[in-house]
Amino acid sequence: MSEAMTDARPQGAAEMPAGPAPPLAILFELSHRCPLQCPYCSNPLALERAHGELDTATWMRVLDEANELGVLQVHFSGGEPSVRKDLEELVAHAARIGLYTNLITSGVLIDRARLERLAEAGLDHLQLSIQDSDPANADRVGGYKGGHAKKMALAGWVREIGLALTINAPMHRHNLDRLEDIIELAASLGAGRLEVAHVQYYGWGLKNRAALMPTRAQLDRATGIVEAARARLKGVMVFDYVVPDYYARRPKACMGGWARQFLNVTPSGQVMPCHAAETIPGLRFDNVKDRPLSEIWAQSEAFARFRGTDWMPEPCQSCERREIDWGGCRCQALAITGDAAATDPACALSPHHEALVALAEAESHTQAPPFAYRRFTAE
Ligand code: SF4
Ligand code: SF4
Repeated sequence: MSEAMTDARPQGAAEMPAGPAPPLAILFELSHRCPLQCPYCSNPLALERAHGELDTATWMRVLDEANELGVLQVHFSGGEPSVRKDLEELVAHAARIGLYTNLITSGVLIDRARLERLAEAGLDHLQLSIQDSDPANADRVGGYKGGHAKKMALAGWVREIGLALTINAPMHRHNLDRLEDIIELAASLGAGRLEVAHVQYYGWGLKNRAALMPTRAQLDRATGIVEAARARLKGVMVFDYVVPDYYARRPKACMGGWARQFLNVTPSGQVMPCHAAETIPGLRFDNVKDRPLSEIWAQSEAFARFRGTDWMPEPCQSCERREIDWGGCRCQALAITGDAAATDPACALSPHHEALVALAEAESHTQAPPFAYRRFTAE
């Protein structure tokens, strides 16, 4: 196999075949249900309904299997993970077996009593998304009146209870001009980390791309603001800064490289290398109901398809960055070029890059169309 494959055999098991190194983290999309309707949501356009969700016993088993596979962190996400009444039970089990637990939440459904129960169950960290520093615009973007105020209350309780807090702020043309205020807000909430994450154009983000795309001038200003704030708040708040691919010169190592560090389990149990991989036609995903996680990680056709570097076309195949960015994002390559095995067009070496930049420039300068809000009915 390719460079991504290492011999992960335990000592004394010399006859076992080589396999991929174990993943670092697993994302449990416990449910696609969410009271918010963000137009950049990374969930698929065809959302899973409640009756298709895995039951508690199956999620528990998958936690055990992840632990045996060598996973260190579990991220409980969605949708909104707190719609599941068994969240405390799952957190407690994950903590009991030694996994680091992170709750990724919109924050609008968790009251103080529930947060205390989650902390008692062993929750290590909470990641709260915010839509803006301006409450009215935050509620407009999230499609949920009063949501911003609820998030602020939750952040206060997180601090009082003593949980670690990350603020996640998806950025786009409707909030970028308030980035300084958003940074101040995150610092005032006591966040140890702020993710300034320009919207990525998959799923609902792709559907709403023209409504969300910032101008290059907005982006350049934002980059300067983040750099200054990073220096000013050194030792207080760590910044993760995700630039929009459409204005980049080189792509990100999407998910740390396909099938290298992460697994994503959908509400119905499909196991994928990233949350958008379902958009790639012809990939067959295994389900935790049918196969153990270790087998899926090592043998699933979908994981093997773009793992390592063997699959890469030129110019990636002979590029010195091929084991740095792993060829970028397969879902973006598909969305822009129609071929998931193409070089990510975010790369300036891709023959599609100039067209991508022109598209971003054009969309960012047209009047933003109305949002197509993330809803169960709207595909
Ligand atoms: S991005 Fe918005 S709609 Fe999607 S799961 Fe998060 S809070 Fe809910
Ligand atoms: S050519 Fe491929 S490997 Fe090289 S920088 Fe571009 S996307 Fe990355």
